[in-house]
Amino acid sequence: MIERARFAPSPTGPLHIGGVRTALFNYLIAKKSGGKFILRIEDTDSKRTVAGAEDHIKDSLKWLGLNIDEGPIKQSERRILYKKRVDELLKKGLAYYAFDSSAELERARKESNGEFKYNHEARKNMINSFTVSEEEARSRIERGGYVIRMVVPEKKTILVNDEIRGPLSFNSDEIEDKVIMKSDGMPTYHFANVVDDHDMKITSVVRGEEWLSSLPSHVTLYNHFGWSLPKFYHLPLILKSTGQGKLSKRDAEEQGHPVFAVQWEESKGFKESGYTPEGILNYLALLGWKGKGDDEKYSLNELVKKFDSKDINKSSARFDLKKAVWINHLHLRDFSSKKNSLIM
Ligand code: GLU
Repeated sequence: MIERARFAPSPTGPLHIGGVRTALFNYLIAKKSGGKFILRIEDTDSKRTVAGAEDHIKDSLKWLGLNIDEGPIKQSERRILYKKRVDELLKKGLAYYAFDSSAELERARKESNGEFKYNHEARKNMINSFTVSEEEARSRIERGGYVIRMVVPEKKTILVNDEIRGPLSFNSDEIEDKVIMKSDGMPTYHFANVVDDHDMKITSVVRGEEWLSSLPSHVTLYNHFGWSLPKFYHLPLILKSTGQGKLSKRDAEEQGHPVFAVQWEESKGFKESGYTPEGILNYLALLGWKGKGDDEKYSLNELVKKFDSKDINKSSARFDLKKAVWINHLHLRDFSSKKNSLIM
């Protein structure tokens, strides 16, 4: 199957090495099949967009040699498409207007001791197009300030396969009727993500495991539209080199290694710290994947040839600076021997 895989970062900050590994695995899955590696910028949350972040993402991919075949496609430029899709769900009764003010939502949360879920049960006691008259709904829509939520059916088992973790099942009663369109008319991450993956004919969704909890909502949206599911790969986390938890900029600084591919503000990247793009990609590939045999040194082309998504690990991997330095050294050695042979 010829794959279409997309790397879909939100420009809410610089591109962290965890994001680089996600980009790399998308690239490998696409290229292995002779397919396309696509860049999509998920910038529908204008409040969280950071100036310069999109350029940092593009500059990082460029330095690394992860060349994009399509894009960047920017979600902020596709509002009309999302609006059309929201209208489709409203018409089918699979989405609804919710008029609750933040004070009302806050009260509902307090009354349920923080356990509140805007779901099929709660929806009956809230202010939305299911509970107010048609006339009132119309006048509230005219006034604006509402959101649109998706309907999550009650008592359903949501089944989905993850290529790394195997079959997964979720209880729909645990899931909220998530907001799909915000009061500013912008879609939420969940909605735009699913609509775009379908519209862009994405065959493999490859992302960090922190998105696993969103998966049942996404599958519900695919079902609402009657679309077939892409393959999902939720990659294990990259942990800090010491102790527990996800590798952060602070941990990296404490351990004296970069966390970005290229410089961001005052923080030097792997580029400025003397790493080669192939060295860092090679190391990141080994964080979460193991090839057959004892080989550890791979160029990007060799990775494309040898990579098999079946060999991606389920468990999180610790960032190991010594190993990163060693793998980089193997590439540097190559680089200088090529240079020497050119001089001779
Ligand atoms: N915008 C999300 C992120 O920043 C994308 C997750 C996905 O790939 O679906 O990671």
